[in-house]
Amino acid sequence: AAQSIESNFIFYSEEMNQRAKEHLRIESELRQALQNNELALFYQPKVSLRSGRIVGAEALLRWRHPLRGLVSPGVFIPVAEETGLILDLGEWVLEEACRQVREWRDANLIMPPIAVNLSARQFDAGLPHRIAVVLERYGVQPDQINLEITESLLVRGTDNVIAIMNQLVAMGMSLALDDFGTGYSSLAYLKKFPISTLKIDRSFVIGLPYEENDCAIARAIVTMAQQLRQEIVAEGVETAEQMSFLRELGCDQLQGYLFSPPVPAIEFATMLREGKRL
Ligand code: C2E
Ligand code: CA
Ligand code: CA
Ligand code: CA
Repeated sequence: AAQSIESNFIFYSEEMNQRAKEHLRIESELRQALQNNELALFYQPKVSLRSGRIVGAEALLRWRHPLRGLVSPGVFIPVAEETGLILDLGEWVLEEACRQVREWRDANLIMPPIAVNLSARQFDAGLPHRIAVVLERYGVQPDQINLEITESLLVRGTDNVIAIMNQLVAMGMSLALDDFGTGYSSLAYLKKFPISTLKIDRSFVIGLPYEENDCAIARAIVTMAQQLRQEIVAEGVETAEQMSFLRELGCDQLQGYLFSPPVPAIEFATMLREGKRL
């Protein structure tokens, strides 16, 4: 028995060692990626279920790795969160989104708001000022950029967080609560925060309209959001059946492969220019 515990331990620590190495590798490569311009934002349209038109987009980070090709944020965001590198990444994302919005405006494109994802780690007292500086630098109006935040931030739920949110809203920005339903938020909870949009997490959309539980959850979220007068966006919509169900529930917008995956800026601009509809 002693022997097997020992070999288990060796096996286990070997595995942890591998993970730690992988982590370190990603961390140092990511630092370089920031300097070498290997990062890009892709844009995924949000469409209105009422008009079928593009009414927004989410900016999603991509890493064009010289050897590994396009690396998904699922791989590197967790590492960036752990190491604190997410602060630099987050700044880059904000700046790049504003630069792009300005470029589009200079090209006379009428742009719906672009949403960027914020890590909870970016959410400190200095955030409103940092954002204001970037908006100013590119001459971008605050309502051109929306912010997506996650429930983990609300759970931290201090007055401090609420004050920062209020400051952002006072500047003219809108906040969306991302991945809704996966955390611990409740109705009572949500009321405290100045959030204008709820995004129903993809994990509840997948089972629509066949999984009873998912249907019940989606229905409850939509009902609640309507009572709070919040916009509702369903994410990860892939099928026409899911769309019909969500439309009947009274969901406002959808985002998902059914309409378009996240695409490079130039392709998003083309969709807008050509007036692509649902
Ligand atoms: P998220 O914010 O929930 O973003 C939505 C994710 O769902 C994106 O994955 C998107 O490509 C994917 N998606 C959209 N529609 C569909 C669909 O119909 N089917 C399926 N299977 N997937 C769909 P992505 O781009 O890989 O991003 C993963 C996560 O990484 C994001 O989840 C977000 O949490 C994080 N992330 C991405 N960019 C940033 C960023 O700039 N900053 C921060 N802090 N996090 C980011
Ligand atoms: Ca998001
Ligand atoms: Ca999401
Ligand atoms: Ca999600």
